[in-house]
Amino acid sequence: MNKTCQNCKNEFVIDADHISFCEKMKVPTPTWCPECRMTRRLSFVNAWSIFWRDCDKCGNKTMSSFRPDFQGTVYCQPCWWGDTWDGTEYGVEYDPTRNFLEQWRELQLKTPQCALETTYLTLKNSDYCNGIAYGKNCYLTFWSDYCEDVYYSSIVDSLKDSSDCLNMYKSELCYESVGLGDCNKVFYSDMCDNSSDVWFSRNLSGCMNCIGCVNLRGQSYMIFNQKYSREEYFEKVKEFRLDTREGIQAVWQASEEFTSKFPYREYKGSAQNFNVKGEYIFNSKNTQDCYMCTDTEDSKYCQFITVKTAKDCYDYSGWGNGVSQMYECGNVGENANNCKFSYYCFPDSLNLEYSSWCVGGKNNFGCVNLKRKQYAILNKVYDKESYEKLTAQIREDMKNNPYVDSKGRVYAYGEFFPIEFSHYSYNDANVIKFVPKTKDQAEAEGYRWQERTDNVYTPTMNGSQLPQTLDETPDTIVDEIISCIACNRAYKIADGELTILKKLKLPVPDHCPKCRESERFEKINKPKLRTTTCAKCNTQISTAHPSDRIIYCVKCYQQEMV
Ligand SMILES: [Zn+2]
Ligand SMILES: [Zn+2]
Ligand SMILES: [Zn+2]
Ligand SMILES: [Zn+2]
Repeated sequence: MNKTCQNCKNEFVIDADHISFCEKMKVPTPTWCPECRMTRRLSFVNAWSIFWRDCDKCGNKTMSSFRPDFQGTVYCQPCWWGDTWDGTEYGVEYDPTRNFLEQWRELQLKTPQCALETTYLTLKNSDYCNGIAYGKNCYLTFWSDYCEDVYYSSIVDSLKDSSDCLNMYKSELCYESVGLGDCNKVFYSDMCDNSSDVWFSRNLSGCMNCIGCVNLRGQSYMIFNQKYSREEYFEKVKEFRLDTREGIQAVWQASEEFTSKFPYREYKGSAQNFNVKGEYIFNSKNTQDCYMCTDTEDSKYCQFITVKTAKDCYDYSGWGNGVSQMYECGNVGENANNCKFSYYCFPDSLNLEYSSWCVGGKNNFGCVNLKRKQYAILNKVYDKESYEKLTAQIREDMKNNPYVDSKGRVYAYGEFFPIEFSHYSYNDANVIKFVPKTKDQAEAEGYRWQERTDNVYTPTMNGSQLPQTLDETPDTIVDEIISCIACNRAYKIADGELTILKKLKLPVPDHCPKCRESERFEKINKPKLRTTTCAKCNTQISTAHPSDRIIYCVKCYQQEMV
């Protein structure tokens, strides 16, 4: 079936599998194309943009995903998760003479928002993090599960004693790396697995003691893909002076030049995949057009399944951890089944529709900021029979009297929430990192945009004055306010960060965390596939790699790995 996207007006295809999925989920087929649907979902969630704000209940200062000028009510985490309220206080009766989504919007604006998205009760000493669950001693770490002593990292699962990492799982003592799994002491590297003591390398598997290497399997004592004896190797390492900032910078730059001349695999992911298409796909099967998914099965158009497992999902953006039959949901995870058109609902969500911030919700329709309730509509609890009758009527009413937004787009039953209902501006929401748009482009589609002004601190030293090695760095460095050599923004070295740097014998960074984070995000491919041909055998392939790279199909790439 071919359709024209309501939003971008491009044609898109809905195949037979998609139609049968919609029939099973009892939803109509979508009216927006896959990319516009993903963009819309990701504009409702915000892990990375955090601000200081006062709690509207206790008055304490709190980190918050809402800006200080956000008009709604925001509670700090202890106040939001506390027992003094459960959301039913805001419950309203559905008025069939009025548009349903308009009534939902009123409820959304009336209920208290949680300052940060965390499973608060599973955290220890991790107050300055967002999008986090089961964390201990983490700091400025976002979208993270089961991590301990992790600093300035994003999209990480089961990471320990590491800093400055992106898209990583089950690794320890790693620094400034992207896309590692089962690694130990891997630094400044990209897409490596089961490796240790590796620096400045890309696509290594089962390697040890390698520097500046690319596309290797089961190798050790290699420098720029050349084999050395153990003694020679450590002699060379000494010459590189990898304990100094200058030494690191020089080898990092040389290795990026060297590795970029080698072919890339058509998609990034693990060899343990069966019938998959997408980017950053691990241990998955029958998974199509997906991005950053692990242990995912029979799914399509999904993103950020960072904790295993997800099964039978379409248009689902995070984060997994035992979910099935999810459709058009964002950040609904941890033991969830049959949820539609919802975001920020966890854990143990069952049969949710048009809901947000429902904790342990079962059979909730159109609920917001509601805790552990069953058979609730607009935060009012019903008996099972009345719930079923009334939800059937609302679905019918939504078809007959759909919400129409300011751009004329129609939101009947089966559509995710209207863009203008998001609490976050486009440049604050997760979407900006994966579907970058300019202010004008975002606003043309009806997304909001808000410039950010950072607090100004007077630096006590410049990044260029930092000592070259950690040995020369006094512990009092944590008291300094350093100005970033790239953007002049003031930043500090955190106590725990210094502890990790000591363990790794690495110098303190002269770039601020924001610049370091942006550089890492620059290194990952975006969730947009294009069709091209393998540079070796000419087979047609789908890839997210930019066009200036040499790209091989999986088969040719496997032959390349030595
Ligand atoms: Zn579209
Ligand atoms: Zn509070
Ligand atoms: Zn900076
Ligand atoms: Zn090929």
